[in-house]
Amino acid sequence: MLRRTKILATLGPATDKPGVLEGMFAAGLDFVRMNFSHGSAQDHINRANSVRELSLKTGRLVGILADLQGPKIRIARFKDTKVYLNEGQNFALDINLDPMAGDNTQVGITYEPLALEVKPGSRLLLDDGRIVLDVVNVENMRVNCTVVVGGDLSNNKGINLLGGGLSAAALTDKDKEDIKTIAIMKCDYVAISFPRTAEDLHEARRLLVAAGCHAGIVAKVERAEALDVIDEIILASDAVMVARGDLGVEIGDANLPAVQKMLIKRTRELNRVAITATQMMESMIDNPIPTRAEVFDVANAVYDGTDVIMLSAETASGKYPIKAIGAMHRVCIEAEKQSKVRLSRHRIELQFDRVDEAIAMSAMYMANHSKINGIAALTESGSTTLWMSRISSGIPIFALSPHQETLGKVTLYRGVFPVLFIHDLSDHAEVNRAIIAELKRRGVAVDGDTFIITQGDLKGIPGGTNALKVITVGQDLTH
Ligand code: PEP
Repeated sequence: MLRRTKILATLGPATDKPGVLEGMFAAGLDFVRMNFSHGSAQDHINRANSVRELSLKTGRLVGILADLQGPKIRIARFKDTKVYLNEGQNFALDINLDPMAGDNTQVGITYEPLALEVKPGSRLLLDDGRIVLDVVNVENMRVNCTVVVGGDLSNNKGINLLGGGLSAAALTDKDKEDIKTIAIMKCDYVAISFPRTAEDLHEARRLLVAAGCHAGIVAKVERAEALDVIDEIILASDAVMVARGDLGVEIGDANLPAVQKMLIKRTRELNRVAITATQMMESMIDNPIPTRAEVFDVANAVYDGTDVIMLSAETASGKYPIKAIGAMHRVCIEAEKQSKVRLSRHRIELQFDRVDEAIAMSAMYMANHSKINGIAALTESGSTTLWMSRISSGIPIFALSPHQETLGKVTLYRGVFPVLFIHDLSDHAEVNRAIIAELKRRGVAVDGDTFIITQGDLKGIPGGTNALKVITVGQDLTH
């Protein structure tokens, strides 16, 4: 059975080891994430080359997502690498302190405006909320705090303000440099960290296009204030990541489940792609099997309708990167058998303005309500398959396109499988024969299956889909 939910895994030192990437491909990898918060530009270029080579060698197209670091606000360093903070003690964050000279009373920070953007009573969360500080007062750019939750604190840990409100711009100078590398790497998607408004995403798109890069844009929803303008943010993006790490720190972990459900639902309603990220298989960093809670988390994301589930440290630095993908794969396969994720009333009451959208919706209605084994969509830009994949279904959608850029994009869509299809045929019956031959060659169609084919009369024109045909595999196609 083909898995519809896509697995996105972060690359890192653990996946550079011999044979690991090959094992991840075999276990069901669909997309990789290059995390620009770590590693050099050359590391990312080398990894992207390895992924492209393996895609060619195995015939399994694996897409590439570059994740920009963004304005992650961090403490500087300690003289002894780490300190222990006791509950109730005083601790200061000081922009003027030597960045190497932290101790267990104070540490430097890299974000100048912090002292201007907090006030007495503000709550700061360090190291993804493991350390909690309450601001007592601000003196000469020094933020004096009381430790509310103590523990170990080590170099360069992140800082979040509970409730959000730090003003750092989404794109840093480092991000702007990294965009140039990403353009060379020909990534399929670029993730923008900590966007606050749709304008942050428009600016990212302008910079990418200026660098010659036409990657899709992923908005990482990880700031509390992004939720206030969420429709604009979704519409400015091609995909939305529920970045549960930072978001959970800003809005409180208990609010995450409801926000995840809302974000996935709204993203799909607005015809965008949803990615669920962070700690999905966290215990597999050290263990070969997931916890029961992690199994439920992955399955629940599938029930919520996510297109993609993401692995972070589990694959980038964990002990069992291949097994983590294998575990996600088998949980998805079982979750996808549930009827609630195969049926849909989505958009059933809508009017469609475009012919290609109406064809896509008609194909899905037919697929879900009659005996259809698969859909083959000839697509220039991938938009027909994006519409199709917003409808819950158990029927696989094969996106046939001659364009690598399109194939890379559709690889992220739930239930859509990329097929490189280049032809110079003009007769429709011959094109249909070639489509079926390609699907049979791949082992996804057998004689007697019923397939829907969607296509346009004019080859090479995006938005031109105007035909839907139902064919039985193995019967001669005369028209
Ligand atoms: C997150 O915060 O959940 C996230 C995905 O972002 P990053 O891994 O870049 O911190």
